[in-house]
Amino acid sequence: MNAVVAGTGLLPWQEGTWSRIEAMLEAGRPPHGLLLHGPGGIGKRRLGARIAGAILCGGPGSGPCGACRSCHLLGAGSHPDFLRIEPGEGEAVIPIGSVRNLIDRFTLTAERARVAVIAPAEAMNQAAANAFLKTLEEPAGNATFILASDAPGRLPATVRSRCRKMAVPAPARGEALAWLETKANPALARHLLDLSDGSPLAALELGERHGEEALAALRADTAALLDGAADPIEVAGGWRKLGDGGLVLSALFAALRNLARRGVADPDRLYAAVDDVVDTRRQWLEVPGLNEQLLYEGLALRCAGTAA
Ligand SMILES: [Zn+2]
Repeated sequence: MNAVVAGTGLLPWQEGTWSRIEAMLEAGRPPHGLLLHGPGGIGKRRLGARIAGAILCGGPGSGPCGACRSCHLLGAGSHPDFLRIEPGEGEAVIPIGSVRNLIDRFTLTAERARVAVIAPAEAMNQAAANAFLKTLEEPAGNATFILASDAPGRLPATVRSRCRKMAVPAPARGEALAWLETKANPALARHLLDLSDGSPLAALELGERHGEEALAALRADTAALLDGAADPIEVAGGWRKLGDGGLVLSALFAALRNLARRGVADPDRLYAAVDDVVDTRRQWLEVPGLNEQLLYEGLALRCAGTAA
């Protein structure tokens, strides 16, 4: 996991949310189920770990003190009363085995506080969600389950209704950019943020996954394509090499948005290109077994010279 995601420090845009959480924790026992929901890539999992730290902390104050034994164990990833439930590496689903493990560990003793962060909660498959629901319905002991979700509508309504819900807002663009510029190459930060719908952690992760050089090349090639200064077939070949269709479409969309902002393209051509990207994204998501090469080449040929 990315070090920023794994940490428990407060991100600059989470201060308001943290005040609400502190008030909740000070008001009494934490809820059995807490659902943190909001856009992806803004630090919900990290916030969940911080809440866990606060609940388990033996020090003074309402947040994790960072100095007690519990905080040290949590920081080292070896706290016996803390669990992260996530899909396995490269997997999309949280299987029932993970939830069974959670239930086994959390129902051993009744009184000790225990906290689990389940993220993304909507990744629990049906069997896992059913098993988890039972735990929520018949709470054993002093356990808190923190669910983090970008798509709470995909959680079973029965799970949702048994959780206290807390909306976690996305940062303002300026705030996200200022933070990202301290973590990634400042020259690329704006671009990374454009490619990640303004979600700073997602932007950072994107930069780490693809490398700054590849992302800078993607931006340059896509801009050159729209300017009519690059060979569409070559650009399409570069897109394909990246192996990330969602990223390519986001880059194209960001470049078109840039043209719109600068007012340099013919509006009819621009809107047609935007429609084309939206339509291609839909095909990408809905049609299995698409011929990627044809898809990219067609898109590149149609969008070439939009700004010219
Ligand atoms: Zn502590």
